[in-house]
Formats: sequence, structure tokens, C-alpha cells
Amino acid sequence: MENNVFSFPRVGKYTSVFCHLLENLGLKVLPPPPITEQTVKLGVRHSADMMCYPFKITLGNFIEAIEQGANSLIMFDSRGRCRLRHYWMLQDLTLRRLGYQFKLYPVSFSNLLSLIKKFNPELSYLNIFKKLKQGWGELRKGEGPAPTISREKVNLGLVGEIYTCLEPAINLDIEKKLNLLEVNIFNTVRLSDFIKASLRLDYREKRTYKRRAKNYLNGRLGGHGLENIYNSMYLIDRGIDGIIHLLPLSCMPETTIEPILDKICADHNIPLLRLPIDETRSEINFDTRLETFVDLIKRRKK
Ligand code: SF4
Repeated sequence: MENNVFSFPRVGKYTSVFCHLLENLGLKVLPPPPITEQTVKLGVRHSADMMCYPFKITLGNFIEAIEQGANSLIMFDSRGRCRLRHYWMLQDLTLRRLGYQFKLYPVSFSNLLSLIKKFNPELSYLNIFKKLKQGWGELRKGEGPAPTISREKVNLGLVGEIYTCLEPAINLDIEKKLNLLEVNIFNTVRLSDFIKASLRLDYREKRTYKRRAKNYLNGRLGGHGLENIYNSMYLIDRGIDGIIHLLPLSCMPETTIEPILDKICADHNIPLLRLPIDETRSEINFDTRLETFVDLIKRRKK
């Protein structure tokens, strides 16, 4: 695979960790280009109108990566219950229709090792495991420690769709905006938690909340639906001052849990701000809603 140049969609602060991991595995990597208005336009132009916003962004990101020289694309296959499991197939179809020459590799937790071995047959499984462990360490280090509730500052929990919560280009850099408003942020969406949950290594964590959250759903939902319900309950019990629900318009799991989050927050008298995002979002409107929400909580806290 000497002539392969790998790329993948950007994923916030984790982008550099993945680039480093792929290089460490002996692969040639093109760091995914930054997400700009042009990326959004490309993704929107070649996607179905009602497709989720993360699909459009990752498609735009792939187009730009191919145009900059990538010929081997890596896309996560969730094997889950929402549209994410179909992204790679639809993107493969769309990019071929556009005439691009490339190979797209869906990666899931079940094919990860065999795929790496295929990319670099010289690596032994032991070496692959060591490099993955090293990547895991970097990923955890980049996330930093979990924050604690502050008595002086406003404490806000962020829940929502995974890509929208992780990628600043999509969420309009909400964490930076909240930092400027001196908010103590609890972003409940962390990639390490997602990996642990996918590998079923988190069964001891927040067990009571997971049990309580299941009472609101008639079976499995997919995406981060269940996680957002139990994380909201967890944060409320720890004294959070308010919750922000970030979701891409038309997202199935997040739309489904809207009335559930509304009820949980209303029952505990916790303010909830819902911010749906897609390519038509206005940053001024977004900022105004955010500032008003924070002001309201600051006054309430006094
Ligand atoms: S979680 Fe929502 S936005 Fe993400 S792939 Fe599923 S339906 Fe689309």
C-alpha cells in the first residue's frame, strides 16, 4: 500500500491524535482539510436535503481531501441503529458518481485490527496493539480531566449528537464561546466514553442512571439518545445549573429524545436550551440565544 495516501473526516481535537496514530502505524496521511464554508457547500450540494448535517460535512471533507491528493478514505461504520452506519456506502456511491478515483475503507470496532494488518502487513498484531494503546493514551490526555461543579461560575452540561458536540466547525465553537462567557462546561460527549461504551467496557459506570434512562424508551434507540438521557440525569444530580442540547436538524435519535429531556429538565426545574444546527444556521442568532441563556442562569444563580 505504498502509494496510498489516507485521510478521514475531521473530528475536532481528536483529528491530530488520529493523524498521529495512522502515521505511527506506518501509513502516509493527508490531514483532513479544515472545515470551511466551501466544505459545507460541497457537502450540501451533493447530499439529499434531509440527510443529517454531519453526513454533508464529512462528504465535503472527503471531496476536499481527494482534491488535495488523498486516495484512501477511512470512514467510521458504527454498525449501530441510525444513519451513521450507512454513511460510508452513500459517500462511496456519491463520490464515484462525481467521478473520483479512490478507495473507501469502512472501519468498525470489529474489523479494526484486520484492516490495520491489511494496510501494513509488516506490523505484528502485538505491535498493532501497542500502537493502539499509545493512541488511546494520547486521546485520553487530549481530553483532560473531567471538570468539577463550581460554586462561583455557571455550570452548563452539553449533551447531543456526537459529531455536533465534538467538531467546533459544526457547533460554531460553542465551548470557546462559553469559555468567554466564563461558563464551567461539562461536555458529556467524549470519544473515550464512546469507545468504552462500544466495547462494553463501561457497564459499571452510571449504572443507576442507565437503568432509569431506559424507562423512557421502548427499546434501543441508536446514536447518543440513551447516553444523553442518562448523562442529563447524572449532571442534574450533581448540581448542574443548566443543560444545552446540541443536535443537527433531522437527527433521528436526538429528535426522539427531545420531549424526554424537556420532561426531565422541567421536573427538576433545570433550564434547557436546545440548539438545532444545519447549513442554514445563523451565527448571530446562535450567539444571542447562548448569551441570553447564560445571563438568565447567572441571574438565577445570584
Ligand atoms: S446520530 Fe443523528 S446526525 Fe448522527 S448519523 Fe444518526 S441520525 Fe444522523
